[in-house]
Amino acid sequence: MVEAAANSNASGALPWLAAPLQQVLREQRSHALLVHGPSGVGQFELALGLAQGWLCEAEPGPAHGNPLRPCGRCAACHLVGARSHPDLLVLVPEALRAALGWEPDTDADDSNDKASKAKPSKDIKVEAVRAAVAFAQTTSARGRCKVVVLHPAERMNGISANTLLKTLEEPPGNARFVLSSGAPDALLPTIRSRCQAVTLTLPKTEVAIEWLRSQGIVDAAVLLAAAGGQPQEALAWSREGVDAALWAQLPALVRRGASAAVAGWPLPRLIESLQKLCHDALCVAAGAAPRYFPIASLKGVARNAEGVDMRALHAWQRELQRAARFAEHPWNAGLLAESLVEQGRFALESTTPPGP
Ligand SMILES: [Zn+2]
Repeated sequence: MVEAAANSNASGALPWLAAPLQQVLREQRSHALLVHGPSGVGQFELALGLAQGWLCEAEPGPAHGNPLRPCGRCAACHLVGARSHPDLLVLVPEALRAALGWEPDTDADDSNDKASKAKPSKDIKVEAVRAAVAFAQTTSARGRCKVVVLHPAERMNGISANTLLKTLEEPPGNARFVLSSGAPDALLPTIRSRCQAVTLTLPKTEVAIEWLRSQGIVDAAVLLAAAGGQPQEALAWSREGVDAALWAQLPALVRRGASAAVAGWPLPRLIESLQKLCHDALCVAAGAAPRYFPIASLKGVARNAEGVDMRALHAWQRELQRAARFAEHPWNAGLLAESLVEQGRFALESTTPPGP
């Protein structure tokens, strides 16, 4: 998403955000917003777009061509695009900065830089939240407002969240907060209740496919379905080396027990993929349409309900759920991957009735 953030219109690169952005800018009534919805549809970019819309210095009105904010052309918009607007503070965990195209500014980086280089943190630390609260209390440098963008909000621990809560309750004069989250249920209820909710839904399939094509993705429809309709997720998969052809081969690979073919996949990604395969196998066994895989790629999987051993599929499903809980810290990723594929081979094999 480097391109998205480097663009002087923060949300301009994600076409499905244009309408929700203008709607929220029109209807916003709180100083704290919570953008939520499925991950991989641009919550961060929408949050950034809102910040840019508030900070934009384009003069509204017919005499000025009635520009929409953010205009993408004024000095403030360029400063946001260059990540150096003095009235904008973006709080994202170190581990996510590169993926979001929001690399740390050397001056603004944490004091414990050495420790963080060893292992980038996935959390939003309390020191950073305190700094954001202090930032919100200072006077706006360019005279519009002060904006804090915090993403993903569920990466705040209890102490961080409580630190923020006090400020959300009584926001300083011209400060605004945008929290974004793919897992709002993981937030403190008190945080949720202080924020005006902004729901971002999955973009229309055609729009998402068009965007993925513009990013150079071949067979975008297959990859979009694989990612559950979440275009940024589909793009991330593609950058990890999963293309549509490989995805469509996955059912056959698992049925052959070919764990070597997926040995290079990050374990959380592999588990998620196997869960999707298991989900689709259960669908097909029940006579329903698959959701993540092209129907042709599931040929031979549970051809008919007779002879299908649903128990094996359900056992595999439970095993995958268990593995997913430890996917970030497996005791032996290679062995676990092999074992999960082997169980999948057994489960999918058992769904195929003996040949005629
Ligand atoms: Zn502007």
